[in-house]
Amino acid sequence: MIKTDVIIIGAGPVGLFAVHQLGIKGLKAVVIDNLDKAGGQCIELYPDKPIYDIPAIPECTGEELTNKLLEQIKPFKTDFYFNERVNEVTQDKENWVVQTSNNNKFTAPNIIIASGVGSFEPRKISLKEAEKFESKSLFYSVKNKEIFKGKNISIFGGGDSALDWALELSKISKVTLIHRRNEFRGAPHTLSEIKKLSAQGKLSIKTPCELVSIEGSKDISEIKIKHEDGKIEKIKTDNILSFFGLIMKLGPITEWGLNMDKKHISVDSSNFETNKKGIFAIGDICTYPGKLKLILSGFHEAALASVACFKRARPNEKYRFEFTTSSKTIKDRLGKK
Ligand SMILES: Cc1cc2nc3c(=O)[nH]c(=O)nc-3n(C[C@H](O)[C@H](O)[C@H](O)COP(=O)(O)OP(=O)(O)OC[C@H]3O[C@@H](n4cnc5c(N)ncnc54)[C@H](O)[C@@H]3O)c2cc1C
Repeated sequence: MIKTDVIIIGAGPVGLFAVHQLGIKGLKAVVIDNLDKAGGQCIELYPDKPIYDIPAIPECTGEELTNKLLEQIKPFKTDFYFNERVNEVTQDKENWVVQTSNNNKFTAPNIIIASGVGSFEPRKISLKEAEKFESKSLFYSVKNKEIFKGKNISIFGGGDSALDWALELSKISKVTLIHRRNEFRGAPHTLSEIKKLSAQGKLSIKTPCELVSIEGSKDISEIKIKHEDGKIEKIKTDNILSFFGLIMKLGPITEWGLNMDKKHISVDSSNFETNKKGIFAIGDICTYPGKLKLILSGFHEAALASVACFKRARPNEKYRFEFTTSSKTIKDRLGKK
């Protein structure tokens, strides 16, 4: 059981800024996200697009904003738990207990839900047999590329993830890149590298093709794909990597007994607490009269929720409002002189 002051669900921009607001008040937080990296919608949906309405930053991309937020919270040495979905929230007297899909358990007097529009999850292969091989020889993300060394890898998808991994894994494995369209959506530079490798016979491209079956008992032995003309082709395959994009699922949040308004969590806008004491909701997931789904609104919500978290985590201490410019305590926490 991992003990902390605040469990933050979601490493989007708002969850990241919550770490900062808690950190300057001397509170420790852990951050859990279903994705393999921080940034939420900014990194997953628009990493290269410019944002123009972050106060005092005239222009920055989704990726740049994420990197700046991560840099800002570096002094707090926060533990991030990626690739884990928060499934269960239960109560243990004054504390909350959170359980994740990896069976990690966390306990804290406070939870901040900064889960945006829900957890990003891979769009899965719809064939029935796909489930049996999932996480054994069929994967929707790469955690350790070494496991693919010297193997026959069939990669599905037409976007950046499919192209990037086709290129990377072609250095250590035999890769077949399969897409249902002739056109790929990924970066032109990567695509031209892949076409070069294909011309040299170092990688195979199959388009437009669809996966029709996965064969094998314990492990995958081969797959069958269908070409546009209806012809079926068998491909020797040890591992499938599928990158059909992400879908957003509200998921288990609806089962935690929180008051919901359609797909959002209703909060008290004076401290962003939900109907459960010590559970707060900020950012895109929360709703209250006048709510704007903007990053800057989420930052404000994080600041107010962090004050309420302090009061629960340190019931015997008095909360003192301080400016970062003049507070010696805050500067110490930030490692500034
Ligand atoms: C194309 C586009 C352009 C935009 N442009 C702007 C703009 O110019 N200005 C602006 O202010 N806003 C903009 N937005 C909106 C902005 O991105 C969102 O307001 C912001 O991302 C919300 O941040 P968040 O941290 O609340 O949630 P998110 O960014 O959605 O992050 C939530 C995170 O929580 C994780 N999560 C959810 N449920 C769970 C669970 N059960 N367990 C573990 N993890 C979970 C998700 O995987 C995700 O990483 C734009 C949005 C889009 C799509």
